[in-house]
Amino acid sequence: LTRGGEPFIQKELDYGAHNYHPLPVVLQRGQGIYVWDIAGKRYMDFLSAYSAVNQGHCHPKIVQTMIDQAQVLTITSRAFYNNLLGDTEELLCKTFGYQKVLMMNSGAEAGESAVKIARRWGYQVKGIPDNQAKVIFCTGNFWGRTLAACGSSDDPDRYRNFGPFGGLNFHLVPYDNIESLEEELKNPNTAAFMMEPIQGEAGVVVPSKGYLTKVRELCTKYNVLMIADEIQTGIGRAGKLLAVEWEGIKPDIVTLGKSLSGGLMPISAVLADESVLQVLDPNSHGSTFGGNPLACKIAKTALEVVFEENLINNSRELGEVFRAEFKKLEGGFVKEVRGKGLMNALEISTPSGAWELCEKMAEKGLLAKPTHGNIIRFAPPLVINREQLYEGISIIYDSIKES
Ligand code: PLP
Repeated sequence: LTRGGEPFIQKELDYGAHNYHPLPVVLQRGQGIYVWDIAGKRYMDFLSAYSAVNQGHCHPKIVQTMIDQAQVLTITSRAFYNNLLGDTEELLCKTFGYQKVLMMNSGAEAGESAVKIARRWGYQVKGIPDNQAKVIFCTGNFWGRTLAACGSSDDPDRYRNFGPFGGLNFHLVPYDNIESLEEELKNPNTAAFMMEPIQGEAGVVVPSKGYLTKVRELCTKYNVLMIADEIQTGIGRAGKLLAVEWEGIKPDIVTLGKSLSGGLMPISAVLADESVLQVLDPNSHGSTFGGNPLACKIAKTALEVVFEENLINNSRELGEVFRAEFKKLEGGFVKEVRGKGLMNALEISTPSGAWELCEKMAEKGLLAKPTHGNIIRFAPPLVINREQLYEGISIIYDSIKES
């Protein structure tokens, strides 16, 4: 698979932290749904950088925006106003249906910000006694690699030997379990419940129908903020602009990241109404790069592309095709196919396992990566068309057959 890429791999091994275990392909170019390795072999990208390139690699309009703005103004810091931040804030608020937005950089930062905002709201609005605020998360959650994110994780790979995490006052409830959640929400010191509408890194875990609606009802009943982490599910990935739209609910806080930039640079956002976001006052929170003019311009174009190219409907329609095709294999080497829109996973039981299957698919020109042992996520850029999807499906079919 390396195709002459050994020196590049070796250099990463020699000089980089070994905090990932990549498939041994060395990529050097991307366009749309395709990436090319250093020897010029073309692959369909069915991972999309963990859903950061919903608009496709190097989308020409977003790239042009980046080039143009990079020559004019890239960063001012928030010590001053700039001529682009307000415009992008307005677009984000109107597009997603919130009164206010806070722009940050990475997904983890958006999550951290949401938890900070929720705690402050807990003290200043709900009246939780000093330093008593609780935040509830789900088992299997993933929202990044910061200390707080690791402190909320039940996956030893993420928290082992990174502690202590005492004092965070984070509590876990099983995902998709309303009874356990209600017990935690009843506690008057609970400020927020943060959750993914579909758990991505856990292996594309789709909750039961009605779960999100019930979560919304209970958070309202107990005056607890519902935080939806839409960093992976949002911006069309799950077949709606936001995955919570599948149940027509509005969380109190929504976090976005990844495809907010179309994959050109890290840009994230925290959306909420004024009654929540007003808890941030000058000097209480910030980021040198958050809301910089380059990011603002890129995010605006990246969002425009999603609508101009009808990517949300495409995701919904082609997602159905994908699942229908693999439902036919359920019961054999495919134990389960699940997902929404173009955020799907196959749970497989091929004799040689998920890693080998991914290697085989790569040989045949399709890139995907296992999550959690025998689960493979399939999330192509949303610009994929029907023919390309069928081509991808047949590569996956053939690879499964040969495993
Ligand atoms: N939230 C979810 C649901 C994610 O899937 C991820 C990353 O995979 C994050 C947050 C963290 O984003 P980042 O890697 O940009 O910090």
